[in-house]
Amino acid sequence: MLTTPFIDGKWVAQSDVEQLDCIDPATEKVIVTIQTATVQDVEDAVSAANRAFEEWSATSGQSRGVILSAIADIMERDAKDLSELSTLINGKPLGESYFDIEDAIATYRYYAQQAAFLDDKQETDVPLAMEGFSSYVRFEPIGVVALITPWNFPLVTSAWKIAPALAAGCTVILKPAEAVSTIELELGRIVQEAKLPKGVLNILPGPGARIGPQLVNHANIDKVSFTGGNKVGETVMKDAASTTKDISLELGGKSPILVFDDANMDKAVDAIMAGIFYNSGQMCSATSRLLMHENIADELVEKLLTEIGNLKIGPGLAAGSQMGPMTTKRQYEAVLKTFETAQKENLTLITGGKALDRKGYFLEPTVYVDVPVDSSLWTDEIFGPVLCTKTFKSEAEAIALANDCKFGLAATICSSDTQRLRRVSKKLKAGHIWWNMPQIVPVETSWGGFKASGIGRELGPWGLSSFQAVKHIDFETGERGGPRR
Ligand code: NAD
Repeated sequence: MLTTPFIDGKWVAQSDVEQLDCIDPATEKVIVTIQTATVQDVEDAVSAANRAFEEWSATSGQSRGVILSAIADIMERDAKDLSELSTLINGKPLGESYFDIEDAIATYRYYAQQAAFLDDKQETDVPLAMEGFSSYVRFEPIGVVALITPWNFPLVTSAWKIAPALAAGCTVILKPAEAVSTIELELGRIVQEAKLPKGVLNILPGPGARIGPQLVNHANIDKVSFTGGNKVGETVMKDAASTTKDISLELGGKSPILVFDDANMDKAVDAIMAGIFYNSGQMCSATSRLLMHENIADELVEKLLTEIGNLKIGPGLAAGSQMGPMTTKRQYEAVLKTFETAQKENLTLITGGKALDRKGYFLEPTVYVDVPVDSSLWTDEIFGPVLCTKTFKSEAEAIALANDCKFGLAATICSSDTQRLRRVSKKLKAGHIWWNMPQIVPVETSWGGFKASGIGRELGPWGLSSFQAVKHIDFETGERGGPRR
């Protein structure tokens, strides 16, 4: 397993540095100990990325695309090992890790293509109404970018940032979450084999509270793209202001799933289960607020309880496991605190509400019904396998309840009426909406939220443009005939 920072194409081993343990959440045993990046390592990575920028940004999109494709090929070849390592570190069932790796591969492939397309689009004429003048626009890489990622989708969240950044021609410093550093360091090995020039991607494992601010405040970094919790996101936004840095923020959520009385119940149950118990609910997009039409609420809850009863909880590497442990002790304890709050508030628990009686950070899938709108369980992100429900009488009430939330990341709507699905989609304040299906985020679509869920969009062409600067060039072409500005 890889355990040291990756800077300027080299693994930087130093003695006497702060160490970081990566823990198997299913056994609570230390898997590997990482050497964290020092203050000097961060400086070295920033210098390396700045040195590499001129050459990398001058390469053709086509050749950047070739390297991105090579990264995807290597990941595809190593998918089994990467998935197993991911499950060991993160705890999720092996099938989910495979799906993550497939997502990362698809992302590198998509941006390989986008990079190649850039060669024809890098400079585009802009028609002007004014006579005698012409203009064209250039899309340039924004510069050196710091990418700060969480632990819930290893290699995926980083791919969503690294692939478009490299495609655009930026150079990168990745600061992965502490818990999953060892798997993100695999990227160093992969990009070396893919022949990415040295210094173009640097990886700095270590504590976010130390390395994060050093990167975000750094004068020689042009952009920060952050995915994580709102508290840290606010700090990143404030720190970035010190150098008026461009930022993208992908933050938390408390997304609704609305089930109307004309919905296919089995499909709705599938969407509810996947929306809150996939990855043990550790998803920014978790549909943790279930809104059910009162006519079907009893039937839906009964079906849901049957499905939850069938859910196999166990170590991610064990055959048949459908829900693994929480990834970190901190997150496990945070969810246990939520159970205490629910007890104090006398919320109606219909299943779960405690830890499993075994080693590891395992929690029961949990459902509270008729949760008051002022309860923190209804308003705040829990980031665990905890579903809160409410009933509604009308479409208008469902929309109002769904939108009465500080976040606006995602939503699911279950109904068999296409007109209703379109109508409700138009009114929901959410960046990504699914109809009658579990959560899938194709790389060609966009990802990002309204309100406190963040700033900016990832994936698709939007992901690429978030790493580009726009430059206009105007010039006179003849007699000035049009209006002067
Ligand atoms: P976190 O905010 O604790 O940490 C995220 C990253 O920020 C880590 O790499 C961490 O080391 C680093 N960090 C910590 N302090 C920092 C600082 N002062 N400056 C800069 N960086 C710092 O989040 P987490 O616990 O790793 O992840 C869970 C959160 O992430 C949840 O709230 C979840 O909703 C959010 N999330 C959002 C999305 C999205 O796309 N919107 C996706 C995944 C996770």
